[in-house]
Amino acid sequence: MTKLYIVIPCYNEEAVLLETAARLREKMHTLISEDIISNDSRIILVDDGSSDGTWGLIKKIHYSDKLFSGCKLSRNQGHQNALLAGLDCARGKCDAVISMDADLQDDIEVIDEFVKKYEEGNEVVYGVRSSRKNDSFFKSKTAKLFYKIMELMGAEIVSNHADYRLLGSRALEGLFEFNEVNLFLRGIVPLVGYKSAKVYYERKERFAGESKYPLKKMISFALDGITSFSIKPIKLITSLGVIFVLVCGIMLLYSLISYFTGHSVSGWASLITSIWLLGGLQLLAIGIIGEYIGKVFLETKKRPRYIIEELLDDSVNENQ
Ligand code: UDP
Ligand code: MG
Repeated sequence: MTKLYIVIPCYNEEAVLLETAARLREKMHTLISEDIISNDSRIILVDDGSSDGTWGLIKKIHYSDKLFSGCKLSRNQGHQNALLAGLDCARGKCDAVISMDADLQDDIEVIDEFVKKYEEGNEVVYGVRSSRKNDSFFKSKTAKLFYKIMELMGAEIVSNHADYRLLGSRALEGLFEFNEVNLFLRGIVPLVGYKSAKVYYERKERFAGESKYPLKKMISFALDGITSFSIKPIKLITSLGVIFVLVCGIMLLYSLISYFTGHSVSGWASLITSIWLLGGLQLLAIGIIGEYIGKVFLETKKRPRYIIEELLDDSVNENQ
């Protein structure tokens, strides 16, 4: 029987938390009574430095039912780091861990399938969205573009898979071998390797509360994803540089010919456009390189990815 842990990062989720906990409790009890998972399975709620009553709720949930553990981060560290903190808490205590959002957008009815795939020998099981009909037109188009760009940039990433996934204990250990501060779990998990499978599910709408990913965060998440996985943008700049040097040679030839044939005054328009074009391209190139240097800078500092302020976990005492 699989000892299953579920990790849920929560940031200002007081509107959804009680309902989520109730539904998950029911689901877990069903799974336990059907002998699909063992009865020492747990749910870890990670409070990502919320400014509302989320931690108070988590404490309440934990004290009323030992199925739930709580972990409070010292400040808001972002979804990916909060998830990692939760996975770290689950490490070494379970056979498999599933990560999901606090808002129940990920269908909890497919947990059975996740566990089944795990028992069939898959160390990683990806939850893949079967449709995006609940997304706004804008979100589904930008998401598609994002996966396309990631693919072009050579990052191995599972299309339409967010952070709803199961990791077996070996894959989990593998994940912690990656020490990068610029964390983009979706890109790292495929690099861990091992046999993997997919489970399809319908992603629902958030039933209460607001999305914690406004457009600005989404764009920076996408850019981070691209620049932490591929150096292709820098290579692209080099190729562009080569092309422009070649174009420059042609322009030189052209201007020399114009000079000797007496047409040198005309051509102001082409001159001014090339200045703008080249100036713009140079700025863009410097920007992209800067993005990478920024990443190197952050990695060399090796700052902690999160700090745990408080841990509510009965299994710690049980295991010792
Ligand atoms: N989240 C987090 N820290 C953050 C932002 C989000 O832990 O800084 C959590 C949030 O509580 C939720 C999950 O990450 O459980 C996904 O966020 P959300 O549902 O708002 O994103 P969306 O589904 O709209 O992409
Ligand atoms: Mg959500």
